[in-house]
Amino acid sequence: MATSIELRQIKKAYGEVPVIHGVDLTIEPGQFTVFVGPSGCGKSTLLRMIAGLEPITGGDLIIDGQRMNDVPAAKRGIAMVFQSYALYPHMSVYQNLAFGLETARMPKAEIEKRVQQAAAILKIEPLLKRKPKQLSGGQRQRVAIGRAIVREPKIFLFDEPLSNLDAELRVAMRVEIAKLHNDLGNTMIYVTHDQVEAMTMADKIVVLRAGILEQAGAPLDLYNNPRNLFVAGFIGSPKMNFLTATVENGAVKAAGSSLLLGRDVTGTKTLGIRPEHITISEGSGIKFADVRVDLIENLGGQTVVYATTSDGEALTVVLEGQRAVAMGATVTLYLDPSKVHVFDEAGNAISQS
Ligand code: ADP
Ligand code: MG
Repeated sequence: MATSIELRQIKKAYGEVPVIHGVDLTIEPGQFTVFVGPSGCGKSTLLRMIAGLEPITGGDLIIDGQRMNDVPAAKRGIAMVFQSYALYPHMSVYQNLAFGLETARMPKAEIEKRVQQAAAILKIEPLLKRKPKQLSGGQRQRVAIGRAIVREPKIFLFDEPLSNLDAELRVAMRVEIAKLHNDLGNTMIYVTHDQVEAMTMADKIVVLRAGILEQAGAPLDLYNNPRNLFVAGFIGSPKMNFLTATVENGAVKAAGSSLLLGRDVTGTKTLGIRPEHITISEGSGIKFADVRVDLIENLGGQTVVYATTSDGEALTVVLEGQRAVAMGATVTLYLDPSKVHVFDEAGNAISQS
């Protein structure tokens, strides 16, 4: 049976300085939740409070229905994997995996069984006799995850575990951790500053900024319906385009174009348009005339166009496939008005009416 976690108005201050400002969050049993946000937004602090490594200043931490604020880390049934592997250099991989269990005075046969099981899950059986310095970065990170697995925790917490690995290995380990979650079915929380990791791994993404939960939801919920400018700009790559627009009764004037939004708004607003929702082929929708092409990136499968509108605003466009677009050319772009996000003066999304 997997474990549920609930945060109720969780706060943290270091001395007089508040860094987490009252976070409410429910994590369903067996869910893979990703905390994402820029460096310094409080991801590690939140994770460490759940783990019991950091005292909670205010609010309630509820695990499986029980308040855990004052329960010591060792009694929470949680194992944490860090960015730094912190393996014991003088011990073999086997000893590294067994050490915590030996300290807890577990019978030798049970330790042997758990180490072999973890090694099998992580495919590191041939490495059990090696020392950490005889391992690659990816293998070391696997041992660090193995140390969490042998404890058979109710909850796994990961704090940027892949940041020290090169790009290719990061993608491979991302898939392995997702598989691990599928196989074990435990509740897991994974911290990263990388929105691609968040989008690809999460059942639920929690976007944090400056100690505040900006939005929580399934990856595509956040992509399709960002609640504010911050989430809109943070989720998705390349970033959503933002254009300033004057709106009168739902009719917008922006980028030399006029368009009708399905929203009853008036005033100076920000329009958000994802690069992949703009096309260059003649078609229906909103027309952006006289757009200047500044730069092109031919990625093979996609063509990324960096352009400037007739109002002088920057626009990034991602076109499928290989396109014969010339640098310096003037083009006309089109977009589907239903794909346009509108944000008010405070940066909050105005939903489609
Ligand atoms: P993240 O993991 O998202 O990069 P952290 O949780 O490490 O962010 O930090 C959140 C904020 O708390 C930052 O402003 C950081 O400077 C501050 N902070 C973290 N640890 C301490 C500490 N031990 N003492 C004082 N401030 C801290
Ligand atoms: Mg951190």
